[in-house]
Amino acid sequence: MRTPLCIANWKMHGTLADARPLATAVRDGLRRVKDIEVVLCPPFTALAAVSEIVTGSGIGLGAQNCHPEAFGPHTGEIAPPMLSELGCRYVIVGHSERRREMGETDELINRKVRAVLADGMTAVLCVGETAEERRQGLTFTTVEGQLRAGLTDVAPDAVARVVLAYEPVWAIGTGVNATPSQAGEVHGYLRGLLSELISKDAAATVRILYGGSVKAENAESLAAEPEIDGALVGGASLNAQGFVNLVKKTARGGVAVRGA
Ligand code: PEP
Repeated sequence: MRTPLCIANWKMHGTLADARPLATAVRDGLRRVKDIEVVLCPPFTALAAVSEIVTGSGIGLGAQNCHPEAFGPHTGEIAPPMLSELGCRYVIVGHSERRREMGETDELINRKVRAVLADGMTAVLCVGETAEERRQGLTFTTVEGQLRAGLTDVAPDAVARVVLAYEPVWAIGTGVNATPSQAGEVHGYLRGLLSELISKDAAATVRILYGGSVKAENAESLAAEPEIDGALVGGASLNAQGFVNLVKKTARGGVAVRGA
């Protein structure tokens, strides 16, 4: 059984003055929430402070990016061991904003996935089509290419430490989410590919999150779709009360699926 998971991607929001009260309010608001895992991914500069706040609470810590090498002459970069040292257990890799703004290629993303896994952390591999690709009927082709490339040369037993995030680019930050059935269709396709590329066990255990304009209002219906194992949340994770409600609703949707 796959435990639902909500990951907060704060993106480039949060000086320490913002991050500390946000993390504290999320932690306190989720004290009694069960049946779901939650991970906060603040900016690098807030990782240590958020780590102190969430340690012992059950909330996990994640980073939004990393370099594919463990050390070296890469000015301004952050290596996986620097993240795990701070208590990070998750790293988001291949977010569409980085693919688009920083020109990250599938090949680089694959190196990052392998570096994160080699360091013992979980790689949250993001895939998703643009609006134009969907219009041209290329959704499955796009996500298949991204998944195949992202998992190249990843050992089958390490795939258990991968979380996939289906994030249609047209839904990110737009307020227009994929419907549960649109997302469910792509998640089902990705799960079939995992079965073909890795194993039936991997397909059954790897969590596939949906990301793209998830908020408290649509979280329960998305999570009630059997193929959706939780959410990767951008904008709506910056408001503590809203995010706490979103997590509770995702947990409720997940319980409905498991009880079905
Ligand atoms: C994201 O950037 O991963 C994301 C899903 O953003 P938003 O929730 O704001 O659409």
